[in-house]
Amino acid sequence: MQVKELVSYLNHLAPFTYQESYDNSGLLVGDPSAEVKGVIVALDCLESIIDEAILHGANVVLTHHPIVFKGLKRITGANYVERTVLKAIKNDINLVAIHTNLDNVHFGVNHIISGKLGLKDLKILSPKAATSYKLSVFVPQTHADLLRESLAKAGAGHLGAYSSCSFSSKGEGRFKPDEDADPFIGRAGELEVVKEIKVEVVVAEHAVSSVLHAMKATHPYEEIAYDLIALTNSNEYIGSGMIGNLEDGMEAMEFLNFVKRTFHCGTIRYTNPTKSTVKRIAVCGGAGSFLLKDAIRAKADVFITGDFKYHEFFDAEDHLMIADIGHFESEQYTSEWLVAQLKKKFTNFAVRLTNVNTNPINYL
Ligand SMILES: [Zn+2]
Repeated sequence: MQVKELVSYLNHLAPFTYQESYDNSGLLVGDPSAEVKGVIVALDCLESIIDEAILHGANVVLTHHPIVFKGLKRITGANYVERTVLKAIKNDINLVAIHTNLDNVHFGVNHIISGKLGLKDLKILSPKAATSYKLSVFVPQTHADLLRESLAKAGAGHLGAYSSCSFSSKGEGRFKPDEDADPFIGRAGELEVVKEIKVEVVVAEHAVSSVLHAMKATHPYEEIAYDLIALTNSNEYIGSGMIGNLEDGMEAMEFLNFVKRTFHCGTIRYTNPTKSTVKRIAVCGGAGSFLLKDAIRAKADVFITGDFKYHEFFDAEDHLMIADIGHFESEQYTSEWLVAQLKKKFTNFAVRLTNVNTNPINYL
């Protein structure tokens, strides 16, 4: 079991292609072909986490936050980032981050938070646009079923809770093979007319290369006529934040106390409740103030996130209650969820949740 296979499984959980442009998720330090001896999972990658990995004989540190975020121009140990990277390299520890790609998938950071709060009817708060493609491919009638099947198997045609979605229309394909062609149907120099089917499928960005690969492997033609077109549709399953409903409404302060207990918050900074009973809750793990307008638009009673600044609290106006529960606190359960996923999938090495509390903030 190599590091790259572990990374490939993470890509299956939360495709790296959905990370934000400023992010740096993936294998950051290490050797893709190294054998995995053990994994430590934490929210942040620090020297103390590398020490923990060494102690347990683990050679992979998987964290939500990437230790290398901005470019590193030198690695001399001048700050904690450089020292962590140096220590990892010296000890053959591989550093992997699964950051905004895990924020942006439906079953990711915000789904975990929503689960802890018992929210139902979950939807992404701000779905991303332009993360899918339309593939139209022209295939002889005789091969249409086979093609549809192999496209679906490669991940094409997913629409929400539906799979194997496609549209087919009948028509005629015309072509004249050249002297140096090796046609599946027809002869060189003769115009051929073939009954063909146009198969159309939606393909999510992360599945494009495997779907094209499957199409080429299944289609009988030497030259395949197909269109791959980028869509501007928003994707309800990829994006930021999450909105859902409590099963039963709760008194606003009772709800905040429940949140404080659930996330072990040293403090919660909040604006005045706008309703005495709250039911509709928006969440965003980490720094979520950029989603305030989306939370208001989605008619949330409370917006739970971290890293709100003083002036940003005013923007709640009379629309909703902002509850800043802390960056670390909001994302802390991501690590144990990752441990559970890896343990389910891999049995040939140990996966441990860190014992180190990496939160740099104390509350007095
Ligand atoms: Zn974060």
